[in-house]
Amino acid sequence: METINVDVLVCGGGMSEMACTAFATEAGAKTLVAEKQTEIGGSSNYSAGMYWGSQTYDKLRYWVPAGDVTLQKAWMKDYLPAVQWMRDNVTVGNKISNLHDLHQNRIRSSKANALFTNTSVLRLIQKEPGLPGSTAIGAITCQNTPNSPSTYYEVQAKLVVLATSGFQGSPDITSKYLGQGGDNIVRPNRGLVGDGLNMVIEFGAGANRGMNTCYGHLLPAPLGAEDVDLKDYLPLAQYQSKHCLLIKEAGRRSADETTGDKIINQYLAKQERRREFILFKFFISGGVVDDVQGRCTIEQYDQVMPLRHKYISLDVPVGHGGPRSAPLVDGLLVAGVDAGGFSNLSYSGDLALAFVTGLWAVREAAKQLRLPVPRLPPAHSRDGKDKPVQGLL
Ligand SMILES: Cc1cc2nc3c(=O)[nH]c(=O)nc-3n(C[C@H](O)[C@H](O)[C@H](O)COP(=O)(O)OP(=O)(O)OC[C@H]3O[C@@H](n4cnc5c(N)ncnc54)[C@H](O)[C@@H]3O)c2cc1C
Repeated sequence: METINVDVLVCGGGMSEMACTAFATEAGAKTLVAEKQTEIGGSSNYSAGMYWGSQTYDKLRYWVPAGDVTLQKAWMKDYLPAVQWMRDNVTVGNKISNLHDLHQNRIRSSKANALFTNTSVLRLIQKEPGLPGSTAIGAITCQNTPNSPSTYYEVQAKLVVLATSGFQGSPDITSKYLGQGGDNIVRPNRGLVGDGLNMVIEFGAGANRGMNTCYGHLLPAPLGAEDVDLKDYLPLAQYQSKHCLLIKEAGRRSADETTGDKIINQYLAKQERRREFILFKFFISGGVVDDVQGRCTIEQYDQVMPLRHKYISLDVPVGHGGPRSAPLVDGLLVAGVDAGGFSNLSYSGDLALAFVTGLWAVREAAKQLRLPVPRLPPAHSRDGKDKPVQGLL
């Protein structure tokens, strides 16, 4: 097996990893990215490309009240400068592919760096194998190029950044953390099977508090994962449902629609049959929904909560994922939207979060490697001027 020596091994090639690697390269680190899919970009390739987030801390807490306060405060310091960096550097439209092209050019500007696609990180190497918490010193990777035999590498690294994202493609892990029904949620990125989680659990790591919630959208039913093409996810998402009523077959509502389809879907995913009916302006009796109860639900709803009148927040407890904190492991950094409990139940802009966590990883790496710490430009003076929260609803 060939051995490769680098300063920083970045596991995964999504939004956070590409930002991390590009900044690390510019700081002078010798880097290697290992991405198991054919293309870099990860989930951002399926995204709408909206690089957004809450402009103030208060608004962030309002949107994501169950998220980790420390992480959210830290993110707030970097979010608006990151927006400005994006304005300064990604000039052609706001396409995510332009950003990845820019990152790749930054990474490839030095021959010392390598970007391997079709390359899975199989396991991390510890200084003292099998000892929980022992320093990470690299990883074993496997490159699977079509029509060629697999090539294994032992990558020795001063620092390993683990940014292999979540586990939506693993029925076992989704049902373990999201509960009954979690295993058959329709999901776009089936390459995310919890590799990073499994690797750090071997290191003795604990999970954060938000393991029983996820990011997702309501989709039309009946629908199975096999029916959906990747490009269909956005047009199929039922964003409009927050302005509608959602009722079960029994004719009753089960959650507050105004919280949006990205939260409702999590409650619905845990219910029997996992489907509800979205009512627009008129109630259409088709014999599926209980007619009398359905009409009664709409009447009550109209009396209690006219549209755009009031925000009713949910009070269902969240968070029984696992131990709150685990000891830090030398040599190992994590990045990406699934690192930590920033988003818990609800979320606020993942692409910007991924970018900033990538930057955090490289800042720490630069400090440890005694390289210049990357800086972002100051936030623009017009950013961060808040609109009233009601304006968002
Ligand atoms: C349909 C859709 C629309 C979206 N729209 C938006 C939007 O408009 N705005 C927004 O802010 N967010 C949006 N998001 C969310 C956002 O795209 C993601 O949350 C974000 O891109 C995640 O970035 P990440 O770097 O944390 O992880 P990922 O992009 O998932 O990167 C992880 C990478 O690690 C790789 N990997 C995993 N295991 C291994 C291994 N063992 N070895 C090597 N590589 C491995 C994976 O292949 C993947 O490329 C959307 C998501 C979807 C699915």
